[in-house]
Amino acid sequence: MPFIITDPCIGTKDTACVDVCPVDCIHPRKDEAEFERTQMLYIHPDECIDCGACVPACPVAAIYDSVDSTPPSQKVLVDANAVFRVGDEAAVAKAEEIVTSHVSAHPDLMAVPPAERAAAHAK
Ligand code: SF4
Ligand code: SF4
Repeated sequence: MPFIITDPCIGTKDTACVDVCPVDCIHPRKDEAEFERTQMLYIHPDECIDCGACVPACPVAAIYDSVDSTPPSQKVLVDANAVFRVGDEAAVAKAEEIVTSHVSAHPDLMAVPPAERAAAHAK
């Protein structure tokens, strides 16, 4: 079961997780064309090997260890992680559309600083 990036990544996006992932399944990387225009990063669900290295690396606790552990307020982002593909314009657009919709639906969460957002997921 893949790990999932959620909304504390929005506004943070520091790529600390990319640096520790042993299988390069977190995208876009800083050297990929999509990096500047994505709102967050995504984990490829088929490539993630569930090693857990990205979780402690994330400064804002944006990464959950499974779909099941992803809080209800973040569930739509499971699909965003799943559809995003570097080099696939339609997939990038779809993932970003999901994120934009999530942001619009949760002004309460977006008003919380990224570092405190994960704590607000449970509320
Ligand atoms: S759990 Fe491991 S393989 Fe999966 S995204 Fe995190 S660092 Fe990469
Ligand atoms: S370490 Fe966390 S905030 Fe940074 S890019 Fe990865 S998921 Fe986003």
